[in-house]
Parts: sequence; C-alpha cells; structure tokens
Amino acid sequence: MLVVMQSHATEEQVRAVCQRIESLGLKAHPIPGAARTAIGITGNSGAIDIGSLEAMPGVIECIPVSKPYKLVSRDLKAENTIVHVPTPLGEVSFGGKAIAIVGGPCAIETREQAFTIAGHIKAAGARLFRGGAYKPRTSPYAFQGLGEPGLQILANIRDEFGLGIITEAIDNESLDLVEKYADVIQIGARNMQNFSLLKHAGRSRKPVLLKRGMSATLDEFLMAAEYVMSEGNYNVILCERGVRTFSDFTRNTLDLSIIPAVQRRSHLPIVVDPSHGTGKRHKVLPLSRAGVAVGADGLLIEVHHDPDRALSDGPQSILPEEFAHLVREVREIAGVIGRTIN
Ligand code: PEP
Ligand code: MN
Repeated sequence: MLVVMQSHATEEQVRAVCQRIESLGLKAHPIPGAARTAIGITGNSGAIDIGSLEAMPGVIECIPVSKPYKLVSRDLKAENTIVHVPTPLGEVSFGGKAIAIVGGPCAIETREQAFTIAGHIKAAGARLFRGGAYKPRTSPYAFQGLGEPGLQILANIRDEFGLGIITEAIDNESLDLVEKYADVIQIGARNMQNFSLLKHAGRSRKPVLLKRGMSATLDEFLMAAEYVMSEGNYNVILCERGVRTFSDFTRNTLDLSIIPAVQRRSHLPIVVDPSHGTGKRHKVLPLSRAGVAVGADGLLIEVHHDPDRALSDGPQSILPEEFAHLVREVREIAGVIGRTIN
C-alpha cells in the first residue's frame, strides 16, 4: 500500500500519517520525491483498511501496490534515487547525471599492493576504491582475505589518497566491522539471498551495493533490495555482475539488458561489473563501454598492477594503464548520452 501526500502537505501531516500507520502495527516508509512525499506501508500480510488513512489531512490517495516489491518500485518514487557517497575528495553520487567509476583489486593482499593500486586509481580520475578484506571463495583453501587488518589498510587508503571505500561483508560478523571502516557496504552475488545479512545491512546507515546473484531473476534481485529497504536503509545501489548460462567462452554472461529493465521498474541506481561479468581481462573495456552506453550509473572494475601474481581474480583484473584508458573512453561515451563521469 502506498499513501500519496499532496505536494503542499506539511511535515506534521506526513508525521501524523506515519504515526497512524505505526499504530496499526505496520511500518511506514516516508519517501520524499521531487513533487510530493509518498509513504510506503510494509508489514501487512493482508489488505489494509484505507478509509481512515485516506481521510487524513494532506493525503491525496491510497494506492494498493500489486507488485511484490514496493519500496524499490517506481510506483513509490517516479524520479531516480541518487545515492550520495561522501569521500575526502568530494561527494560521489550514483543515479544522477554523473556516472561513478570504482576501481581496485579483487582482494586487499598487502599494504604495498593496495597502496600501489590506489595511487593508480586516483591518478586515473576515479574517487572510489574497491577491494575485499573478506573474500567469499569457492574453495576453502583459497585466499580468504586479510579480515580486519585488510579493513585497516582500506581506512589508511582513504586517509592517504582521499578515496571512498567499497568493500564486501560476507556475514553478520564482518558486516559490523565493514560498516565501521567502509563508505559503501558490498553484498556479494553469493549472498544476494542471505536474508539475515540483507536485513542487517538494512539497519545500517551506510549505502549498500547489492550484487545480483548468479542465477537470480529480475524479481529476485529487486526483492533482495526490498529486504534492505524494508529495514529502513533506502540507499541501495544495484550491481549487475553476470549470470550463469551455457555460454562457455566467458566466466559469466553479463546481462546488460537488465539495466533498462531495472530502470523501468525501480528508482534505484544500477551499476555494471564487467570484471566478474566476463572473467577475462580483454573483455572488460568493451563491456565497460557497453555498460555506460546502455545507461548504467557506474562501473565496478578490478585493477591489479601485477595480475599474474594476484591472490584472486588475476585473469579478469586489468592493468592500471588499461584502467586509465578505460576512464578516458567511457568519459567520451558518457558525453554522447548527456552524462558525465564523477
Ligand atoms: C567481488 O566483487 O570481488 C566479488 C566477490 O564479486 P561477486 O560477488 O560479484 O562474485
Ligand atoms: Mn573478484
């Protein structure tokens, strides 16, 4: 259910409607839009008696939302959500005119490795640095990440270079630590349906970058975002990172057609990860170009100065000079579609 407020409704009127909703044992999600505030209602298992809400001052109408996802839906908010990420180098936003570029290694391996790559990411003009301190690996014998010391290296990178930090939480324990150190909490493909982790991230005040599960449908992807939002965290950035198909020439199949499909259904920003989406270094540039052309709000790129010796995802990591070239090219493509790079 969605309560649409009049454009001139006062804050008190919005608050009174939220209180009435909460008094019914439901949760109210006031979402301000450009023209008016809409209040999403969750927590109901059946129909809500709308009569008393519709009669309240400042309310235009109550609309039943038939889709399974409510808070992520464009029905709730017609205009794009812009997720703002403050960094020492200035604010980076996802979902506005500017396209955000995130670069960095798959995993934080050593302080020297991470600092070397961070220097290149900054020099190329990006303002967000990625790198896992907790790695969800297929094999229990593969490098699992440095854990909290890796997060400390990331915090030092923010101090030293001014870059904002995106890093993954793989479970409830790591989420508490990641939240402390990172500017954006990443939830990986393997955890897209880890519902307790999604709810936990929903109680954080840090933005969440939610990756599509490797076999997730569009509805499942949006419902995962709904889990985060239903707990009150409305700063969700979606990420397409490729899905499993029968295709045998690529690690995953990057499903770029999901970008306009998401944008039609949801107000949330969506970025593309061509590194995991292809698994091959030579495919990262062409699919980055395509991702920007198709309308992505950002790119997440794995970069390593010595990929042959990387502890994870070396084959898909591009070299620093390739990253700089990529940023130059996508800047031009962004210009053609009336966007910029931030
Ligand atoms: C990553 O970004 O390093 C990662 C593990 O990604 P995904 O969850 O998409 O596999
Ligand atoms: Mn990786």
